[in-house]
Amino acid sequence: MQLVFASNNTNKINEIKLLLPSSITILSLHDIGCFEEIDETATTIEGNAILKANYVTQKYGYNCFADDSGIEVDFLNGKPGVHSARFAGEHRNDADNITKILDELQNQANRNANFKTVICLNLNGTQTLFTGKIQGTITTQIKGNQGFGYDPIFMPNGHNTTFGEMNKLLKTQISHRGIATKQLIAFLDLNNNKPTP
Ligand code: IMP
Repeated sequence: MQLVFASNNTNKINEIKLLLPSSITILSLHDIGCFEEIDETATTIEGNAILKANYVTQKYGYNCFADDSGIEVDFLNGKPGVHSARFAGEHRNDADNITKILDELQNQANRNANFKTVICLNLNGTQTLFTGKIQGTITTQIKGNQGFGYDPIFMPNGHNTTFGEMNKLLKTQISHRGIATKQLIAFLDLNNNKPTP
């Protein structure tokens, strides 16, 4: 079974490969000869996932899934959300994004936040969305150097380490992306779908 994952983010591709059964072969955008940047112009996380999956299916004709994620901070009314990658500016710098969140939450008691992933699957002409969320808190300091993005300042509820300190396999299993990916896998199993490009 072959499916395109509409991403060139090595971290994400590796995280998803850890969860998918070996019977599913993942092709990246580069694997299918897609080297152009897909604009993420939607105003919601769902919208961007749909936009990316549709781009690949419509232009390249593949069964495909795409994900879009973001961190939603309660005190910031759900921001940065869909703008997580470029919270501190269009240069999309993880360290600057982290600094901005820590600055905005300085001396704030309410540090609740969640990561959210939406996966959009286009399979044999049908579109299905899967949503994964994990609740946690924003730490006051950067902890750990694993992962990417906001990992070093996000501590999931029920754990005493940040995603940045956590073993990669554990993060993958409990994370927003992991939860959404497990739904995707269950759906593929349930429907016994056999996608062919
Ligand atoms: P994307 O649109 O799915 O690539 O995610 C947008 C941004 O959200 C990323 O650039 C990261 O800053 C942040 N993000 C998404 N998933 C994660 C994660 O698992 N850990 C840390 N940051 C993440």
